[in-house]
Amino acid sequence: MPLITAPAYARQVTSAPAEPAAVVVQRVRERFDTGVTRPLSWRLAQLDRMVALLTENAGEIERALHADLHKSPTESHLTEIGVLLEEIRHTRKHLRGWLAPQRVSVPWQYQPARASLVLEPLGTVLVIAPWNYPVFLLLGPLVGVLAAGNTAVLKPSELAPHTAEVLERLVPRYLDGVAVVTGGPDRTTELLRERVDHIVFTGGGRVARIVMAAAAEHLTPVTLELGGKSPAWVDATTDLPAAARRLAWGKLVNAGQTCVAPDYLLAPPDVARALEPLLAREIRAMYGADPAASPDFGRIVTSEHAARLERMVSESVAAGARVVVGGKADVAARYVPPTVLADVTPDSPVMAEEIFGPVLPIVPVPDLGAAITHVRSGDKPLALYAFTADEGVRARLLRETSSGAVGFDVPLVQASMPSLPFGGVGASGTGAYHGEASVRAFSHAKPVVRKPLLPDTLAAVRPPFTAVRRALARRLL
Ligand code: NAD
Repeated sequence: MPLITAPAYARQVTSAPAEPAAVVVQRVRERFDTGVTRPLSWRLAQLDRMVALLTENAGEIERALHADLHKSPTESHLTEIGVLLEEIRHTRKHLRGWLAPQRVSVPWQYQPARASLVLEPLGTVLVIAPWNYPVFLLLGPLVGVLAAGNTAVLKPSELAPHTAEVLERLVPRYLDGVAVVTGGPDRTTELLRERVDHIVFTGGGRVARIVMAAAAEHLTPVTLELGGKSPAWVDATTDLPAAARRLAWGKLVNAGQTCVAPDYLLAPPDVARALEPLLAREIRAMYGADPAASPDFGRIVTSEHAARLERMVSESVAAGARVVVGGKADVAARYVPPTVLADVTPDSPVMAEEIFGPVLPIVPVPDLGAAITHVRSGDKPLALYAFTADEGVRARLLRETSSGAVGFDVPLVQASMPSLPFGGVGASGTGAYHGEASVRAFSHAKPVVRKPLLPDTLAAVRPPFTAVRRALARRLL
């Protein structure tokens, strides 16, 4: 299938006369205000409609993902559509239980009384998504947003224009109370001026700062799903060929454009060297001798990003890194080959920013202590991986580093389990979602107290504070 290299999105996303953001938000908010979203039946119906959207249009969605990112239909199923269907299934199964008012204990001083927590919808939620998993990262948050009884405005990324166009067309046809606004940063800026009740932003730290500043104007709470450099520690106690297999896979899914991809490897020098041929072999096993010809290897989202990666590799080589595998990039075709760099130092250009592409640096370090010091010297990563059979090493990594999540012997999967909250910490994000965590994130947990008027047990805390009441007050608290 030929790659579409022209920036067709420039035309597509600006062709229709755009409805002002204020009008869109107002419309969606009015739908919320009708109260229609509150019953469980509406929420379950929306989830069912979402299943219908995904299953009835899977072919069209897969074609759009192929045009945007050269994703193979199987990878699209695994990492976008299938994983969403799982998230919906899990949510649908448990939603009634999650929404049930939660009784909490009442301290003796307040008896007789009953207390509970009731989840109420926030209102209208703005979801701003990136281009790398343009379906999963737009509709994934929406599962929780709708399950929690909210309405939503969705802003897909302009850099995955085919997918944005398909979703803009399909979503209003299937879902109630959900609008899609397409366009670039100007449209996002316009949306951010409107008052909404929560913002879910997935993307990079630079734009996250813009989003958070805009949210501050209205005191709107935010969930920020960001990225960063996720390290992977590998030591000699592990099965190195098996570790290399998992690492090469984790790095190269979606051509490395995965927020939780292992960004770089930290390993003692002998392990670092042993990994080189093993990684090369695994890459060849997955994508053949010429990955450009593989139907299963993705493309970089834009030629600008491809040029950034090409520059990052050449500058790192100039700074002393050695290319183990990888060849010439074809920037115009948005192709960057799977690339392994050895002898990488912490001050190499490839270590200066999140790679977000199919380039895997191996950074030799003297020992685990040095690896931990390196990880702690940077921003808290979204994920930390370790390939080791040593429980002591695992315990140290858990205790001495902080990250959004940890994967022992496996990358990526923590991000697709609906039973686990997904999110970062520090610079890799604020808040978490997926499954029950989504329903909690997009609801207000409202404390409700019921206390009978009689017996009048509050007499002790009411003035006048006579001697008896003074003594009682001190015994009470
Ligand atoms: P990005 O920050 O460039 O853009 C994301 C969204 O912000 C897009 O919808 C875009 O239209 C909008 N935007 C861009 N510039 C804007 C501006 N000036 N004002 C307002 N809105 C603007 O992110 P990206 O390049 O699409 O995605 C890559 C980043 O996202 C990486 O850092 C990656 O790690 C991170 N990411 C995180 C997760 C996660 O779940 N934690 C998932 C995927 C990607």
